[in-house]
Amino acid sequence: MFGRSTYAQINVTAAIDNFRQMSALAVNSKTLAVIKADAYGHGAIAIANALSDEAERFAVAFTDEAVHLREHGIVQPILLLEGVMSEAEMALAYELNFWVMLHRSEHFEWLRSLAPSQRPKVWIKVDTGMHRLGIGLDEIHSVLPEFDDLLIEGTVLCSHLACADEKHNSFNIQQSKQLEELALSHGLGFSMANSAALSQWPMTHGSWNRLGIALYGCAQSIHNISLILKPVMTLTAPIIALRSIEKGESVGYAQSWVAQRKTTIATVAIGYADGYPRHARVVTPAWLYHQRISLVGRVSMDMITFDVTNLAQVEVKDRVELWGEHLSVEEVAECASTISYELLTSVSPRVKRRYVDG
Ligand SMILES: *Cc1c(COP(=O)(O)O)cnc(C)c1O
Repeated sequence: MFGRSTYAQINVTAAIDNFRQMSALAVNSKTLAVIKADAYGHGAIAIANALSDEAERFAVAFTDEAVHLREHGIVQPILLLEGVMSEAEMALAYELNFWVMLHRSEHFEWLRSLAPSQRPKVWIKVDTGMHRLGIGLDEIHSVLPEFDDLLIEGTVLCSHLACADEKHNSFNIQQSKQLEELALSHGLGFSMANSAALSQWPMTHGSWNRLGIALYGCAQSIHNISLILKPVMTLTAPIIALRSIEKGESVGYAQSWVAQRKTTIATVAIGYADGYPRHARVVTPAWLYHQRISLVGRVSMDMITFDVTNLAQVEVKDRVELWGEHLSVEEVAECASTISYELLTSVSPRVKRRYVDG
């Protein structure tokens, strides 16, 4: 072996367990596993394979992500959350058993142009207030009757909550009621819940829930004490150098951090080119020898530096956990003024994924 041992270890058993816990919160709905963006950076093929006995359906953002899954033997129907880009892609969706999100009236035309026996299953996106995708509430009442011939059993009205992680925000209730009433009046199923809504807004549980971030073990924004989710990714990197610096000496670019005492500095082989956030503040924690250590100095492209003065036993080659089993990615994200989703999806291909069971 050569090179550095910087790894994202992916615990597929944890993903299975998280899926079971989350889907059990809504026993009257089905739950699909959202594995867009390479399963939030965890590896879509591995996660899909791990969940093949659990999840009846998967969801990705775009057709190319779904084609990639098919090329690697994933057979379940796959929902395309952002729909298709052309009529030809609509035809391909039928061939490859992708479910298509229709979110503009043009999409209904593309669907109608296909022979009835060659049409993919579809969901219809309704804009209940996110104002990003979907047919507006003012239009939907005319669009649905206009394309009545395309609606079949199993067609689902879908919408997305703007504030699902805010437990007391009444906008969630407003959005949910609008979607549910619409679905009832047209005799269709609905899908509203993402992870946060699945766990704390039972009124959003529809015929399908869309489980993303909690599948990967992130539950900080989720207020449900019955859940014990496990982080799926643990990111570790080795110490490649140690040095002692004197009080008053600086570390890293722009001399932004200056030692207030004689300090032992550990240099760790990971940087922003690997997806470690460049905006992580000084004092962002990492985990070493069963305790927390603090980031010092600026994050470089390939390296970061920690104050390990209090750990007498530290040696080169020791492995530092940047986030995962002992330190939540949410906490690190907060120190970098971002969210867990961004950190997980930013872990670059330069970081090898190692898949483990349990
Ligand atoms: C990504 C995504 C989800 C999953 O959301 P989480 O917060 O990760 O659970 C659900 N629905 C849509 C439309 C999405 O794009």
